[in-house]
Amino acid sequence: MGQRLKYKIRKFLKNPFYKRGDFYVKLTFTIFCISIFIFLFFLFDGIVYFENIIYAKNYVGNPFQVHVINVENGDAFLLRMPNNETIMVDTGDDKYYDRVESYIKQYFHYEKLNSIDYLILTHSDKDHIGNAISIMKKYNVKNIIRPDVYSKFEETNSLTDDKYIITESEIYSDVIKYAFDNKIQMVFANDLKSMSLGECKINFLWLENNKFTDDNNHSIVFKLIYKSKSFLFMGDAEEKFEENLISIYKDELNADVLKVGHHGSKTSTSQEFLNIVNPKFAILSCSSRSSILPSHEVIDRLSNMNIKIASTANEGNFAMTVTDSGIEFAKATRKPNYLALIFAIGTILVAIVWKNPVYNNTKAIKSIKGKKIIE
Ligand SMILES: [Zn+2]
Repeated sequence: MGQRLKYKIRKFLKNPFYKRGDFYVKLTFTIFCISIFIFLFFLFDGIVYFENIIYAKNYVGNPFQVHVINVENGDAFLLRMPNNETIMVDTGDDKYYDRVESYIKQYFHYEKLNSIDYLILTHSDKDHIGNAISIMKKYNVKNIIRPDVYSKFEETNSLTDDKYIITESEIYSDVIKYAFDNKIQMVFANDLKSMSLGECKINFLWLENNKFTDDNNHSIVFKLIYKSKSFLFMGDAEEKFEENLISIYKDELNADVLKVGHHGSKTSTSQEFLNIVNPKFAILSCSSRSSILPSHEVIDRLSNMNIKIASTANEGNFAMTVTDSGIEFAKATRKPNYLALIFAIGTILVAIVWKNPVYNNTKAIKSIKGKKIIE
């Protein structure tokens, strides 16, 4: 070590910043305050706190949570399972990628999880799978559960053309192609039939010989059972699909919560179907800007049966859980990070009004001495 450097260090130790007068004392104090502020900032949620999209954090850590993300007329749900696994049901339209991405980020942060164990793609419409590729690119998606209705085309094309051109839906083709290329495990819902994740059971209610030709009626429909409560997810299934479900699954359709089919469109949720499901709550994923959805007919049917409606149009993002007292619902509301806020304001105030008493005293003594000399 050079003599000059040694001298500098010795000089610094003898005369550190905080002894060098007003400016250096303030600088040291400010650096100290900023360090504590940064520490508190990260301690109290950090960047996540400033996300535009509000996370419904009322049930953080609860082993069973159903999160409904507001993607207007589209579907995107995150389910936290009792075995700490995550299911994502649909991904919303790519127009709302920022909302979905931000929500997943916060979900992982608050729930201390880091992968989407099952991504259920109910059917091939853009308002359901529009963000699937982006989510697979950004997050660790382990399995995809999808309807088998297009599998014929996939098999045919896989032998002759590795591009997987499926005429029905270009987006769906791209999603499947991406998943194949990236070796993401894919299963058909009807092959699974049911699965258990901790205390939670999922039954896929499949139509064995589905003859429908439109995408909505290829939707994966499933019933989620946790403790004594159940949730029925309908995708965009329509009335004719409901009729088939009734003929096959009748008693199994009864559920406490119904994710209403097709965003509350009048093509779904018939009175007969509602009578059999007999839900207490209805989840509606629809837009507040839409004049068509949800339809008055469906709202009237739900209201007449005293079914409590929770819609993304009215509540924005929200979450549900099951406790000993039953099913609970809470919408996402921002709670200010008071401690970080108070500290930030405090730091600024102190920096403005604070004066170094030691330095000022020294100055005062000097001036008194000076005066004495003059006197
Ligand atoms: Zn839809």
